[in-house]
Amino acid sequence: MASVWRPVMGMRVIPLEDNLFAFQFPHLKDLQRVLDERPWSFENQTLVCKQVPAGEAGGDSARFSGFWVQIHELPTVYATSEFVEQVGRYVGTYPNIFGGAWRSYFRVRIALNIGEPLKRNMKLQHRNGTFQWITFKYERLNIFCLCCGLIGHSEKFCHKVYEQGLTAKDFPYALPTIDPVLVEELQQVIGEHKRR
Ligand SMILES: [Zn+2]
Repeated sequence: MASVWRPVMGMRVIPLEDNLFAFQFPHLKDLQRVLDERPWSFENQTLVCKQVPAGEAGGDSARFSGFWVQIHELPTVYATSEFVEQVGRYVGTYPNIFGGAWRSYFRVRIALNIGEPLKRNMKLQHRNGTFQWITFKYERLNIFCLCCGLIGHSEKFCHKVYEQGLTAKDFPYALPTIDPVLVEELQQVIGEHKRR
């Protein structure tokens, strides 16, 4: 990665486990630039980077990484920062940085747990009972498995596909997903928004 990051003051790489490395930067400026420009890729794979205190490499916190997520098809009536934050919280955690100018979609910076399946869309229920889907696009995400929803491998190389003999029509992440609990929560959110 040194040839990609080109840290002015150098860096040290310490292999920890399979596919897990600690990168140490003597200078804060180099470290900050690497963090700000996440996510990175290496040989077409997403390289998830997370800052950890010195001497505390690995662990659960290493599984979270910052991503920009685009929220598409969000009706303008819900286009408030509170509502977008709710949506961001559904996709990941800490959706506290809202970026960029208004386009046809919203951009949300979130911390994503890369050990869990990605959320690809969300179903909104309007008060009159009609439904609408909003979809999420992850910026600079390289490889994603349509079978198990995880980052880092494609369905061609998925253990689950091999073990369970699944075919493309069975891949749950190729289709919209429904989360009934969430619809209920959102109804509340929409209701609160409308009362204001
Ligand atoms: Zn998979």
